[in-house]
Amino acid sequence: MAYQVLARKWRPQNFHTMVGQEHVLRALVHALDEQRLHHAYLFAGTRGVGKTTIARILARCLNCEEGVSSNPCGVCSSCVEITEGRFVDLIEVDAASRTKVEDTRELLDNVQYAPTRGRFKVYLIDEVHMLSTSSFNALLKTLEEPPPHVKFLLATTDPQKLPITVLSRCLQFNLKNMPAEQVAGHLRNVLTSEAIPFAEASLWQLGRAAKGSMRDALSLTDQAIAFCGGDLTESSVNQMLGSIDQGKVVAIVSQLQQGNASELLKLIAELSEQGQDFTVALEDLLSLLHQVAICQVLPDAPVSVQFDKSKVLDLAQNISPADVQLFYQMGIMARKDLEAAPDLQAGFEMALLRMLAFRPQQHAGQINTMVAQSKPHGLESPVVMQPEPALAPESDA
Ligand SMILES: [Zn+2]
Repeated sequence: MAYQVLARKWRPQNFHTMVGQEHVLRALVHALDEQRLHHAYLFAGTRGVGKTTIARILARCLNCEEGVSSNPCGVCSSCVEITEGRFVDLIEVDAASRTKVEDTRELLDNVQYAPTRGRFKVYLIDEVHMLSTSSFNALLKTLEEPPPHVKFLLATTDPQKLPITVLSRCLQFNLKNMPAEQVAGHLRNVLTSEAIPFAEASLWQLGRAAKGSMRDALSLTDQAIAFCGGDLTESSVNQMLGSIDQGKVVAIVSQLQQGNASELLKLIAELSEQGQDFTVALEDLLSLLHQVAICQVLPDAPVSVQFDKSKVLDLAQNISPADVQLFYQMGIMARKDLEAAPDLQAGFEMALLRMLAFRPQQHAGQINTMVAQSKPHGLESPVVMQPEPALAPESDA
């Protein structure tokens, strides 16, 4: 059998196996099971978060020969034809390529006719915001009062561009970007079922690189399987994505804390040997510092999956909050300077050395003891802040 890309093979076939977008799915499942159906739905969200997937599943739910429910059988001819993209009563339109009013009119001319095979004639209009104003006007009349056998499923990445008159006639669902945790979790299931060995860290790398899109995550995973020759190790996935071994980023922050300039330069040289992009290294350093700062105020806060929680906690206990802020601030400034530096590595090195140079003259040990002592002391005798007494006005008398 020909190899089928993961994104297609793992496209969910019903709402109950779909990962993410629970808030949307719950509403749709209730509506379907209680037969409270609206005639027009609008799915808004960035690319790859499941808009058309949800719309196609909804088309199956509406047209399954077993009856309207949130659980289409998946085996009747309607279900199969919808899955294979050849169901005559599911009319899919890419508005981006059919923006003209003639296109919309042609499409809507057929609305009045009863469905050929199914229960409902389902119009799935993708990127609906691309329609011209006159197209929207043509659509509006039908949207207002469509025949009972018609359902409109609209999808858009840019709901702001839709006329308010269209928005007000649709039931709108806003799809969220998928958090990296959720993407990584799904990839774990997919790779396990596909019997492809993987390193846990590689999942997080892929999840993060997908930037909230499950489709991108699966495409990247396909690419990684090819790149790594079937075994997803952290280093080869990093290499493919051009991302950086997160252990190195942790080591850099730890050396900053210890004020060890020669170790820092050694780490930078290693990154350079691996051909790493120092812009990415700086970004990763900033996300780690951000996580450390969060951990210092909320030790139980969930840590970004990119980093090992125990290491982040360890750093949070050993670096003073003031240093974290200082490093972060300097790192943010260094992002601008990086472009102006003779080369990226030099810019990165100078940024780290500047962090050390401007750090208050204290040994890490001293800072630790200070932080450790300040807490119980503060608890025993809380310092009550007194408002500054207002200066008595100079009396003339
Ligand atoms: Zn069916």
